[in-house]
Amino acid sequence: MNYKAWFQCSDGCDETYPLTEVIYRCKKCGGLLEVQHDIDVLKQRSAADWKSLFEHRYMRTQYPYGSGVWGKKELVCPNINDDNIISMYEGGTNLFWAERFGAQLGLSDLWIKQCGNSHTGSFKDLGMTVLVSMVKQIMAESGDLRAVMCASTGDTSASLAAYASAAGIPAIILLPKEKVTREQLIQPIANGALTLSLETDFDGCMEIVQKLSARKDFYLANSINSIRIEGQKTISIEIVQQFNWEVPDWIIIPGGNLGNVSALGLGFLMMLELGIIDKLPRIACAQAERANPLYRSYQTGFTEFHAITAQSTQATAIQIGNPVSIHRAIRTLRRFDGIVDQATEVELANAAARADRTGLFNCPHTGVALAVLIKMVERKQILPDDRVIVISTANGLKFPDFKVAYHNFTPGEPPPRYLNAPIELEADYEGVLKQISAHLDA
Ligand SMILES: *Cc1c(COP(=O)(O)O)cnc(C)c1O
Ligand SMILES: [Zn+2]
Repeated sequence: MNYKAWFQCSDGCDETYPLTEVIYRCKKCGGLLEVQHDIDVLKQRSAADWKSLFEHRYMRTQYPYGSGVWGKKELVCPNINDDNIISMYEGGTNLFWAERFGAQLGLSDLWIKQCGNSHTGSFKDLGMTVLVSMVKQIMAESGDLRAVMCASTGDTSASLAAYASAAGIPAIILLPKEKVTREQLIQPIANGALTLSLETDFDGCMEIVQKLSARKDFYLANSINSIRIEGQKTISIEIVQQFNWEVPDWIIIPGGNLGNVSALGLGFLMMLELGIIDKLPRIACAQAERANPLYRSYQTGFTEFHAITAQSTQATAIQIGNPVSIHRAIRTLRRFDGIVDQATEVELANAAARADRTGLFNCPHTGVALAVLIKMVERKQILPDDRVIVISTANGLKFPDFKVAYHNFTPGEPPPRYLNAPIELEADYEGVLKQISAHLDA
């Protein structure tokens, strides 16, 4: 089959560009570019055949098709030669049945999609494998590109650095100084990326990287580049596949730059077009109250949007006031009868800690999504039998200070609701037994 994909202007003009061109906006109107697939060719394979193809490849060892992303290569990026693919077996992440947490909320069918169980610990790997593979393909075809670069709130840079170093391509990382965790910072350093720590916030880094991207020798890896979205959209296909091709009722996803919520929507729309599914789920996008431009727009029925200066939040990866994919996200939410809600710092920390008590280990962004879940259940927007998927975007182990701070009891302050502070005591049998008994009897 002659599967094809290309860049197409998303602003209604018909300009198209090859995916191997180093370009992020339409030359004619400046609109964002989106990857378009030749749907007619894809439709020549039946829905049943697509499903069995994907199932046949899923989590096997035939490189690169065992990857959750490359197992769907025809729907993701058919143009790349297998020789140029840089895969670390991304995707294939488990769905955690949140049985106990769900029961506490009165839900029987609550699942957490653990996208953080991935090579660099976040969902960003799903898109980055596609982007870096495309860069390798472009470099194989011509000699102009010298490096890949990104601005990041921490996870994009970790992912880019890992894939670029696996490919042997120089990576340039722009980070807001002291706004990413130590765990996130050490990843690009260890992978040998040029790591620039700037005296600004994420939006400030983004401004500089966008200027740098006018050059044709650096390739921009931020999600303004919709190649990444193509990989991220496999989240939807994988979720449906894991449920034997059934569509859930609700998906809750934290949003910052809003590429991921757009990707989620794209995956479902593509499956709908190919007849793999026959309905759409509803989508809820969850924002931190301190970085909530989409939520504010939602309050106006999406008729208005104003960029804001994001305030500092524990959910650092979504501390973004001027999201690049705002229009795509609004389009997605309209199509999916979506909602937007927000969580305060206390709400997100309590939600994460509460779910941790039932076996999870959530990052603060997942905490935002869980806090929104709780509100939606309280509002009866989510019903007891609804199948709900919460997208967990990163591994909690990347954000230990978030948890340490929560469980660090400060005398004089009201204790957090799910505090579990360690108890220090002498190495004395009787004293230890007394503590254990007191705990179990409480
Ligand atoms: C990038 C990221 C997000 C936000 O994704 P967007 O596509 O920017 O909305 C949320 N959580 C984590 C952990 C991330 O790394
Ligand atoms: Zn255009």
